Amino acid sequence: MQDQKYFGQDRSSLTGFAINPLNRLSERRHEQPFIDTLIAAPTTRTVIFSGETPVLRQNGNEYGAYFTFAEAHEIGSAGEVAFLGLDGEDALFATLIEEETPENSQARGDIARVDLRSIATQGLVSVPVIGALAQAKSLLYWHKRHRFCANCGTLTLVSSAGWKRDCPQCQAAHFPRTDPVVIMLVQQAEHCLLGRQPIFPAGLYSCLAGFLESGETIENAVRREVFEEAGLPIGKVEYFASQPWPFPASLMIGCMAEALDDRVTVDGLELEDARWFSREEVKQMLDKTHPLHFSAPPKLAIANLLISSWASNEWR
Ligand SMILES: [Zn+2]
Repeated sequence: MQDQKYFGQDRSSLTGFAINPLNRLSERRHEQPFIDTLIAAPTTRTVIFSGETPVLRQNGNEYGAYFTFAEAHEIGSAGEVAFLGLDGEDALFATLIEEETPENSQARGDIARVDLRSIATQGLVSVPVIGALAQAKSLLYWHKRHRFCANCGTLTLVSSAGWKRDCPQCQAAHFPRTDPVVIMLVQQAEHCLLGRQPIFPAGLYSCLAGFLESGETIENAVRREVFEEAGLPIGKVEYFASQPWPFPASLMIGCMAEALDDRVTVDGLELEDARWFSREEVKQMLDKTHPLHFSAPPKLAIANLLISSWASNEWR
């Protein structure tokens, strides 16, 4: 068993999708007889994804995400199956079924397809189950998009309980991918910089962010992105917390960054506006009491943790 002593103790555990107490047993995934025993056990359950959408059991206002494999087969023809981990003593798997179409939508009345963002925002299932759904979503998305060998184009075969795909032709091994994104709260003196993308809801300002590129450190990715989007030179960068972000398979790496200048030049492409905010103003944005109706991202996003920690001066 992995040591649970530090579980939930770090800052990252304050972010949405981060609480996932499953014991992944990564060291035993390659043991097929062991995995077969888990699959056959009567207490084993699976979460189900219809394409990228979780399938939930609905009973009035009560929702559940765990099904038996027999139920999963009833709901849709199963594609890839992956072992997520042990939930206490019981094994939990993830099953991918076909996407909902007009032909297959006459499913059972107690089944609902609900997107993961809504499940998390509305708290339809418990926090640890939301973490398991996030793990399943990113992993199944990878299967759905990476069925053929990137080296030779042959259809690959699932192995290691759903954590690997092997090419029978060129023997290449393919592993699930996670895409790192840096997200940073830029500060100078008593102000922080927040920006708006054109797609944001009216009045919403958030941290700047961007994908980490090949051959780049986290610190240099932060400096490059802030300079690209806001024209600001950045000095010191400190790691703050991270967050699994299953849209579709990112890891958000939250940082605090110190600006060496205060003259903002918005690129006009990724950002339509970026400006400096005081602690007081940021607190109003978090409380939704800002006089101009500016707001900050919801608690689900790591940007909320970065912004609120800075606003209350609690981050050091
Ligand atoms: Zn191949």
